[in-house]
Amino acid sequence: MQKKFLIVGGGVAGVCLAHQLIKQNQQVTLVDDGNNVSSVVAAGIVHPMSFRRTLLSWNADPYYFESKAFYMEMESVLNAHFFHPIMVRRLFATQEEATCWNQRLEQPEFRLFMHQITREDLEFTPYGSGRVDGFWIDTRVFIEESHRYLAARQQLVYDTISSENFNPETMEFQGVKYDEVVMALGYKNNQVPWFSEVPVNPTKGQLLTVKWDNPLQNTSLHRKAFALPIGENLFRIGSTYEWNNTSPETTPEGMTLILANTRSITTDPLEVIDHQAGIRPTSPDRRPMVGKHPVYDQLYIFNGLGAKGYMLAPSLAEMLCNALIHNTALLADLHPDRFNPK
Ligand SMILES: Cc1cc2nc3c(=O)[nH]c(=O)nc-3n(C[C@H](O)[C@H](O)[C@H](O)COP(=O)(O)OP(=O)(O)OC[C@H]3O[C@@H](n4cnc5c(N)ncnc54)[C@H](O)[C@@H]3O)c2cc1C
Repeated sequence: MQKKFLIVGGGVAGVCLAHQLIKQNQQVTLVDDGNNVSSVVAAGIVHPMSFRRTLLSWNADPYYFESKAFYMEMESVLNAHFFHPIMVRRLFATQEEATCWNQRLEQPEFRLFMHQITREDLEFTPYGSGRVDGFWIDTRVFIEESHRYLAARQQLVYDTISSENFNPETMEFQGVKYDEVVMALGYKNNQVPWFSEVPVNPTKGQLLTVKWDNPLQNTSLHRKAFALPIGENLFRIGSTYEWNNTSPETTPEGMTLILANTRSITTDPLEVIDHQAGIRPTSPDRRPMVGKHPVYDQLYIFNGLGAKGYMLAPSLAEMLCNALIHNTALLADLHPDRFNPK
């Protein structure tokens, strides 16, 4: 059955949902205000770990593998290049970290991702290092090419949704009536009335692009900061976490902090080429929000992707897509009402 879908928000959440719905032959219109400050700023690194506590990210298996397959497929759909495989190297800061990594290596769920420690790994830092596979998405290319693809099919509208031009009672926007509407507004979620009680918190992040004469062109390095090679001795380094901050401006303090944290990776001279800031949509329990409005049955939210949007979005978009078309269940843990006192 073919339905008419309106997706509001053209970041990685909205774009992945649009691609998943189109794959299932649905009618899709994506509306975006043309003012993205998250999905196009992101470094786009995807790997299965939460390095701080040497744990796997939430649902790393299967989301890591599903996202990898999705972006590879999208390269041929969009006829564009944005998927880059890399080795991801965690540089250990203490002996405890090295010991913990070795203990994890004994567990099958970690062995799915972690490489065995080699002599070369031990040569990085006095405590050594560990490796997992990963990839990075050239985020601006992926988002812009997706918008271009949708625009060419007359499926993209640049506009700002508000209660002036959209009413969930009628489900009409610009004179067209939709069967289902999904709000994927990132940190601007509470600027419209319908899901404003859902706690999407803005967490600002800043990133630098630097020139660094380093031969490790296929490995991203992670310690207090990360350094991602993006070609020709250029690296993206970052990032900051500035809670409840909605100013998309770069700051000298942000640059100083990133450069200081990068000292944990290298003391080589770095030449700053570019400085960017963006705002992550985070949630109090670090889980996304995917679900239905408590009053309007055909109105949904897809938000709260936090710092891992590029790994989470393809699988969650597929889950939401199946719920919207085939009425399959959504993960109860992700229900947007879960923060309301019972
Ligand atoms: C510095 C930094 C580094 C990051 N690095 C990584 C990384 O390496 N890997 C990773 O996976 N993630 C990373 N992230 C996180 C990632 O960027 C987010 O998880 C992701 O971008 C969230 O996507 P989204 O689509 O939910 O939100 P957004 O990208 O914010 O998209 C929402 C869209 O909706 C539009 N919109 C909002 N309100 C309206 C309205 N009323 N009408 C119309 N349109 C509207 C917005 O303008 C925007 O285009 C990083 C983020 C930052 C800031």
